[in-house]
Amino acid sequence: MNSSSANLQPAAVSNLYGHPLPSYLQSDKLGPWGVYLQQVDRVIPYLGHLARWAETLKRPKRALIVDVPIELDNGTIAHFEGYRVQHNTSRGPGKGGVRFHQDVTLSEVMALSAWMSVKNAAVNVPYGGAKGGIRVDPKTLSRGELERMTRRYTSEIGIIIGPTKDIPAPDVNTNEQIMAWMMDTYSMNEGATATGVVTGKPIDLGGSLGRREATGRGVYTVGVEAARHIGMDVSQARVAVQGFGNVGGIAAKLFAQAGARVVAVQDHGGSLYQASGLDVPALLVHVAEHGSVAGFAKAEVIAQEAFWDVDCDILIPAALEQQIHAGNAHRIKARMVIEGANGPTTPEADDILQSRNILVLPDVIANAGGVTVSYFEWVQDFSSFFWSEDEINARLVRIMQDAFAGVWAVAQEKKVSLRTATFIVACTRILRARELRGLYP
Ligand code: GLU
Repeated sequence: MNSSSANLQPAAVSNLYGHPLPSYLQSDKLGPWGVYLQQVDRVIPYLGHLARWAETLKRPKRALIVDVPIELDNGTIAHFEGYRVQHNTSRGPGKGGVRFHQDVTLSEVMALSAWMSVKNAAVNVPYGGAKGGIRVDPKTLSRGELERMTRRYTSEIGIIIGPTKDIPAPDVNTNEQIMAWMMDTYSMNEGATATGVVTGKPIDLGGSLGRREATGRGVYTVGVEAARHIGMDVSQARVAVQGFGNVGGIAAKLFAQAGARVVAVQDHGGSLYQASGLDVPALLVHVAEHGSVAGFAKAEVIAQEAFWDVDCDILIPAALEQQIHAGNAHRIKARMVIEGANGPTTPEADDILQSRNILVLPDVIANAGGVTVSYFEWVQDFSSFFWSEDEINARLVRIMQDAFAGVWAVAQEKKVSLRTATFIVACTRILRARELRGLYP
């Protein structure tokens, strides 16, 4: 069914639609982990004496590859390849999502775990960074198969996860139900209900109010902050969104509520354009019913590639990695890119956007709202005392605003991009903790 060898090399990168990316991106063989390493190299000159410890950022602390065999509904046995990588635990337990996707590789999960370390330090939640994944297209599985795969995977990674060790959460193609199965499996193996082992759970199982919308709300919050700094009026802005799931859909809703016009959306099913602004609430209902933006009547269908030429003020890539690359970065018309996805911009594209004076709000701060409310969920589970949604949203907005203000100040002071500034703030926090703890033995 899928390859049995560990995917140690970056796989040929494919875009959102499963098509191979253009040759200039294929040929450099720069997988997500390679992208992350380039980002770290850019920050080392700013770390002062802590640079002595920087090598620790270039090596995941622990990477576990697991075989996940399940019996399919037709009686045959399928094997899936699963991963859990703990990049760094200097500041606290590992924390980060689990994704189910046919293109998941070890390189990708390593990079995603490292971006979690940076993200968690950037918003100053007391976690290290971790990430997990299974190389599978979950759409090909029945509900029963999905549950069996999730439970077996959880059991296999059970040796390294736990409420004080490493706390998974949802990511691409995983949701509250999958978190419920993970929580139950871990609890059954432990012999005690451990709600704090995962976040992003259903409300009835110790989940937090506001968690589902948190990533999109964080994207919107930093977008508004950045717009204020560059004199952009959000209520007049035209917004284009790639990916209309939990992140892109919610961010689009909040921008539209603020008066912005969402002029273009793209997902795995198609690309839509509407100069006067799409009816976002209607589109959300359509996507909930049909699984994609395809077939939404009240918009013009545009070619997949034409999405990058759309005249807009704010572009929100909220799908997968490496969507903005050297081949399309020069076509982008937005003044501001808000990275709802993890790793959507390659380093070459970063440079092109910067030279074109397009402000990039990097993933490691822009999409940190999700893990911030995951932290609130974990705290609530530990104290068995639950907060109101208003309280959660107010705390989320305050954390995002403060983190953004800190990063903005560093970017101004050091004359660096917001990505490098976020890495400076975060890596300094991680390496300070590393230095204080010292090496064992
Ligand atoms: N998967 C989300 C992310 O990439 C959330 C992780 C979490 O809540 O732990 O930030």
